[in-house]
Amino acid sequence: MPYVHDTLEALRRSSPAQTEFYQAAEEVLECLRPLFERSPHYLDHGIIERIVEPERQIMFRVCWTDDAGKVKVNKGYRVQFNSALGPYKGGLRFHPSVTSGTIKFLGFEQIFKNALTGLPIGGGKGGSDFDPKGRSDGEIMRFCQAFMSELHRHIGPTTDVPAGDIGVGAREIGFLYGQYKRLTGRYEGVLTGKSLNWGGSLGRKEATGYGAVYFAENMLEARGETLAGKTCLVSGAGNVALYTIEKLHELGAIPVSCSDSRGTLHDPRGVDLALLKELKEVKRVSLEAYRETHPEARYLPASDYPADGHAVWRLEGDVAFPCATQNELTEADAETLLGNGVTCISEGANMPSTAAAVDRFLAARVAYGPGKAANAGGVATSQLEMAQNSSMQQWPLEKVDEKLKAIMANIHRQCAETAAEFGDPTNLVLGANIAGFRKVADAMIEQGV
Ligand code: GLU
Repeated sequence: MPYVHDTLEALRRSSPAQTEFYQAAEEVLECLRPLFERSPHYLDHGIIERIVEPERQIMFRVCWTDDAGKVKVNKGYRVQFNSALGPYKGGLRFHPSVTSGTIKFLGFEQIFKNALTGLPIGGGKGGSDFDPKGRSDGEIMRFCQAFMSELHRHIGPTTDVPAGDIGVGAREIGFLYGQYKRLTGRYEGVLTGKSLNWGGSLGRKEATGYGAVYFAENMLEARGETLAGKTCLVSGAGNVALYTIEKLHELGAIPVSCSDSRGTLHDPRGVDLALLKELKEVKRVSLEAYRETHPEARYLPASDYPADGHAVWRLEGDVAFPCATQNELTEADAETLLGNGVTCISEGANMPSTAAAVDRFLAARVAYGPGKAANAGGVATSQLEMAQNSSMQQWPLEKVDEKLKAIMANIHRQCAETAAEFGDPTNLVLGANIAGFRKVADAMIEQGV
């Protein structure tokens, strides 16, 4: 397939430092080979070359003042990747590791994820290398205001609608929204993940985690199993991990771990969710504090992690939920998980498994739900928030949750049916990439060059 090869080569040459973007693009394009063999018309329309190139990339300077009165400068990004299916939609990530390549990889993944939801949303992503850790509320507010002072001219409820991601939660969305309103004078659904008092949707905060659990339940059901009674390994301690743990408790599973940048917590009786929420949502402190009231839990500091992976994947469990960040689960971790009998992996984070780890899961034919399918519940519920905003309504939680469940089941069905159509029924990576791509590519062809 020379087209796939040539496009990957061109990407490798033009963006040598964008390794995560290249990793994401390679996975998608490699999965598309059988589709192009069957439907070569996609190649006539230059879709491969067009789909790997963002429609627009915005980079800007963010200047703000810290509490000591010192002027600070950060980089801001918004990648408007693909609008074939609707306004650009995707989160903002504030983390010191963020580069233009990180945002490009996340924006690229977002195109296919959003397509899989079946809702009219295109793909985008943004963020900054700003590190919110240890910053006061005042500093966070001034940074968010400075960030929005530039971003506001590029977004709008029918053009581009950002949301949260790592480092951007309800507090940051509030500061960003306030500044947008101040600058434009418009009270409109330009951001999602808003507070419930002023335009937010019930269930949005919980949606990514709940959705990843629903997706795991769908995968297990297809194999005649259920989550009840299963020991679950969860990584991360942010919004996605917290609500994954909440839903797992609700369904009678036993979530025994979580992790932050400093270490991993293992509580074999099941993580105390109320305490975890207090530590992470209210106090914003390290997981180490969990042991102050639960000395029987184990805390494994990051300095003691194995050289070839992460301590959380070396614990015993039945199901794994990587909910922290990209490439947090290595090939050696995958091997350990499989050796320990894990039969289901549902990704709450974006691209948390390395390419080699994914290959291991697929070769073992375990139930593996890639992030772009398994964590799509967050962005899907963001679209429900947009729908509520544009009709000036607020739906009850039951209605949102019912829709979320149906959307996740539909994504699973699409992935499984497409995988079967291409002769590899257990390969949901293949199914997700082909099903997502087809929707976007068909729309691009219909809309012309
Ligand atoms: N950041 C989330 C994601 O990776 C949510 C995006 C959104 O709600 O727009 O899908």
